[in-house]
Amino acid sequence: MNFVIPPPVQASIPVAGGGDFPVHRIYCVGRNYAEHAVEMGFSGREPPFFFLKPADAVVPVHEGETGTIDYPSLTRNFHHEIELVVAIGHGGRNIAAADAQSHIWGYAVGLDMTRRDLQGEMKKQGRPWCIGKAFDHSAPIGPLVPRARTGELLAGRISLAVNGSLKQQGDLRELIWSVNETIEQLSAAWDLAPGDLIFTGTPAGVGPVVPGDLMEGSIAGLGTLKVAVR
Ligand code: MN
Repeated sequence: MNFVIPPPVQASIPVAGGGDFPVHRIYCVGRNYAEHAVEMGFSGREPPFFFLKPADAVVPVHEGETGTIDYPSLTRNFHHEIELVVAIGHGGRNIAAADAQSHIWGYAVGLDMTRRDLQGEMKKQGRPWCIGKAFDHSAPIGPLVPRARTGELLAGRISLAVNGSLKQQGDLRELIWSVNETIEQLSAAWDLAPGDLIFTGTPAGVGPVVPGDLMEGSIAGLGTLKVAVR
């Protein structure tokens, strides 16, 4: 290869216990917990739908550290969404839900940070969500825990506190579309590749953060992701 400008730095997230996981694409599932769907003005089990963030939207947060993100431009309503992140180790297309587990490399705690006012405006106008969801530094992620260590994550508490006050809580068993079903649906639409991350949706209780706030998101078995807003 004879690049005419320096190639971009490979986006990555740390692996618990050492090493780094290169990030290829970031897929996100919309409205995947019933109570959150209701708080966003929807109800019932709709077919899963997806949006993407750029790989370099990740903010890697290492074990024991507190990440920092700047309050983003253009918004006056910057929201937290705590989510289980699934990392794909083996790619594929048309992966059956029953085979999905063998494609998972590991799991992490992630934040699908959202410029809610801009997302809402785009929704109203029937325009793409990119400006509300796919902006720089919109995907802080903690250390990736190998599936070999956790086993299949089917249940467990997921929660988020802001400045020590509980804002979001739920259980992974409340996912409308399970991780395996999500991989089946996603891989029907895109060829999944090693390095792909999937944000699996957020439980109810999303809300705003402002500069000076500290978010602490936890998932049973995966630890706590701490991110400060500057
Ligand atoms: Mn989300």
